[in-house]
Amino acid sequence: MQPIRPLPITRDLVLLGGGHAHALVLHQWAMNPLPGAQVTLVNPQAKAPYTGMLPGFVAGHYSRRDLDIDLVRLARQAGARLIIDRAVGIDTSCKRVHLAERPDIPYDTLSVDIGITSALRDLPGADAHLVPAKPLGAFADAWSELVQRAIDGELRPEIAILGAGVAGVELALAMAHRLETAGQSGQIRLIESGPSILREVNGSARRKLITELARAKVEIHTDANVQDVSIDGVMVGIDGQLIPANFIVSAAGAAPHAWLAETGLTLERGYISVQETLQSINTPNVFAAGDCAHLKHAPRPKAGVFAVRQAPILFENLRADLSGDGSFKKYAPQRSYLKLISTGRKSAITDKWGIGISGKTVWALKDRIDQAFMDKFRGHMEMPVPVLPSSRADGLDELLDAHTHQCGACGAKVAQETLMDGLAPELGSSLDDAAILRSKGRVRVLSTDHLRAFNADAYLLAKVAAIHALGDIWAMGATPNAVLSHIILPPLAPQKQADMIREIMAGASDVFEASGTTISGGHTSSGAELTIGFSIEGEATGDPITQSGAQPGDLIVLTKPIGTGVLLAAEMQQRADGDDYLAAIESMSRPQDMASKLLGGYATAMTDVTGFGLAGHVLNILTASSASAEIELDKIPLLNGAEELSAAGIRSTLWPANAQQIARMTVNTSARADLLFDPQTCGGMLATVSPTHLDKTLAEFENAGEPIWQIGTIGDGVPHLHII
Ligand SMILES: Cc1cc2nc3c(=O)[nH]c(=O)nc-3n(C[C@H](O)[C@H](O)[C@H](O)COP(=O)(O)OP(=O)(O)OC[C@H]3O[C@@H](n4cnc5c(N)ncnc54)[C@H](O)[C@@H]3O)c2cc1C
Repeated sequence: MQPIRPLPITRDLVLLGGGHAHALVLHQWAMNPLPGAQVTLVNPQAKAPYTGMLPGFVAGHYSRRDLDIDLVRLARQAGARLIIDRAVGIDTSCKRVHLAERPDIPYDTLSVDIGITSALRDLPGADAHLVPAKPLGAFADAWSELVQRAIDGELRPEIAILGAGVAGVELALAMAHRLETAGQSGQIRLIESGPSILREVNGSARRKLITELARAKVEIHTDANVQDVSIDGVMVGIDGQLIPANFIVSAAGAAPHAWLAETGLTLERGYISVQETLQSINTPNVFAAGDCAHLKHAPRPKAGVFAVRQAPILFENLRADLSGDGSFKKYAPQRSYLKLISTGRKSAITDKWGIGISGKTVWALKDRIDQAFMDKFRGHMEMPVPVLPSSRADGLDELLDAHTHQCGACGAKVAQETLMDGLAPELGSSLDDAAILRSKGRVRVLSTDHLRAFNADAYLLAKVAAIHALGDIWAMGATPNAVLSHIILPPLAPQKQADMIREIMAGASDVFEASGTTISGGHTSSGAELTIGFSIEGEATGDPITQSGAQPGDLIVLTKPIGTGVLLAAEMQQRADGDDYLAAIESMSRPQDMASKLLGGYATAMTDVTGFGLAGHVLNILTASSASAEIELDKIPLLNGAEELSAAGIRSTLWPANAQQIARMTVNTSARADLLFDPQTCGGMLATVSPTHLDKTLAEFENAGEPIWQIGTIGDGVPHLHII
């Protein structure tokens, strides 16, 4: 029996926004995907906060991690591609989504769960002085900084919260608790434009919350129409009364995202009007859920509970639309629901039908419900392993074991030793990054490189592959002239092939055009998985910089932190932190043409750090230059999270082969030292510079805003690397 081939993609499902409904849809998709459908999630950040736990975070009961839904991990579990960007338009006739920072993406079925925006965003002074409670990242940082400054005695917190609904009141009580436990006095003021606070809460729940506010000495200002916010505080009323504040938070007024008005979708007060099936009233292949949707059949207030309850219906209906089976389910929202409102000190108040029960037990119940929700997104989901036929060739089990998480990018490179073994007669002893062709007084360099997909985003992969391939040209101090592409597409329907080629060309062209060249041809075929590569011809003025010119006494410099291998490997195993992973992608996406140009005048030897890891590439310079080197482990820059993952035993597929280099090194093993063997994708320039040129080199990097680290020194003797 032949193994089952990967199934081609025939339909695109695009999820706009990583809101609560989409997070749950992805969670369900991970357990029950629809073969033939590719899922794309678009969200501006790597993480989406669960707002139910936001007041608990502000009060100091939860850490950031506790309430963050890591969309990178969730996308990996669901086999979805994650695009970190913001939708700015939808063309429903061409079925394309416009994004803020990259070309349009196509969809067959679209779902929108982008929440709301603050109605106060256009308030004069808001950009500089108003912190919205969401997105969480900026708010959490600003809040932590305020508390720290208060503890350091730099200021006395004067906090103004605009909006005295449940969210504003919960934040006020949480902030009061945090300041109290930090031993800080401060003043918290709730500013409400209406005649009274907590208008959506009744009866004893309302009375108890008002008592809590009084206990926490929260000052309340009603009928206070905010005119502007400034460094001095909040200006209210027509006569202009200043309410002093050095921290102003917005928890008021839901407003729809303005760009939805241009989409042609039927809206109700700016929100996407949907039927019982959560399909748009006038465009049935567009769905909407959560706060951005208006339930035409049963309007409800904006609350996360509805987004959560819509998720299973949305999941079923998206599948029905993608598979064309037409059996849509109907969503009937509940009329009322139990609100659990936290009051700061690990206690909470219930609110249903005006009955408010309060105390620690209510908090414990709320905590249990919230943690159960978040548990869906924590930890790691077992990925299916191939079922082997009962009769099989010897050695298959061990190889499959080693390849359970076969890395993409540079982690998929063939080990240096294997390469040398197979190529020795043709390659001779050359270790250079590119072939050097000399003719008619011109020095041209030629290189080819490709990357196996580590990420389902073809646009991003093309960018990274282009930068990676250019690395060999830049490492020789050359400038690219001409590029040919070689692409293997995964199984796709013909129209999807055209879409993917378009995305690849757009990503690669962005990089090549910025480096002064264009793609002039190439070859594309289809295969088992996406692979993108480029062959590049470049030209050097004068002799290219090779790896053989390092001299004893030269200093070793590096222009990017290391750790991409372990972060990519961890991401595949759902163990990387989403923000750390994105920082690694950003580092990989940083071209090195400026670094190469700046080093060009001074480097005695240069290479780019790629698959063989920092140690492997330093050793290549040492071999080519017949020298030794000393590197200070603490001076090597690391990507965030890399050392922690290394300590947890995560390794790229190529790591064990790279670690064989230890025979040519003196090193005390540690999690940090293990990163010397971590294969890098789009790594930095690694160069040697004479001591007389070092200060000038560092100054020029600083002037150009390019990072550079001095990590070690070249010595004499046989090629050997000492790590101190
Ligand atoms: C302090 C506070 C406490 C709250 N407590 C509760 C509570 O206890 N219970 C409750 O039911 N509700 C609560 N809410 C309300 C709750 O936060 C929302 O109702 C809920 O988050 C709505 O979920 P959603 O799925 O609509 O979208 P959201 O959770 O708002 O998520 C939307 C996502 O879309 C992304 N996005 C935005 N624009 C774009 C774009 N153009 N393109 C792509 N992505 C985009 C955002 O970055 C975000 O990740 C609280 C709100 C606040 C402010």
